[in-house]
Amino acid sequence: MKSPKLYSILKGKCPVCLKGDVFKSSKAYRIREFDKMHENCSHCGHKYEIEQGFWYGAMYVSYALTVAISVFCFVVTYLLFPNAHSGVFIGVIAAALILMAPITYRASRMVWMNFFSKYNPKFGKHESVSGNH
Ligand SMILES: [Zn+2]
Repeated sequence: MKSPKLYSILKGKCPVCLKGDVFKSSKAYRIREFDKMHENCSHCGHKYEIEQGFWYGAMYVSYALTVAISVFCFVVTYLLFPNAHSGVFIGVIAAALILMAPITYRASRMVWMNFFSKYNPKFGKHESVSGNH
């Protein structure tokens, strides 16, 4: 595994041990539960919300992702339909942002979390003793 941080972000795993799940549902498109998170890692006990208000910082990541998605959609639309009306660009970007919202939400928290938590191989290596998962 080359990058524990990348693995954690892509798989939605605890940034410290890479074992425990961060989100309660593995499916980002379950609208009722896409934002439900575990408080602690089930494997190593790491507290995901390091301090109160910790997730406010994830908004910056979310903003960066939103800009990136918008630019990407703009470029693709422009390449496919260079003469499209400006309303088409706005429509495509708005649709993409809405469709991507659960992913953006989760990814921003995962990225933010990984800024402050470091992979600890000690937790990752040994298997859970209780063995009930
Ligand atoms: Zn963990």
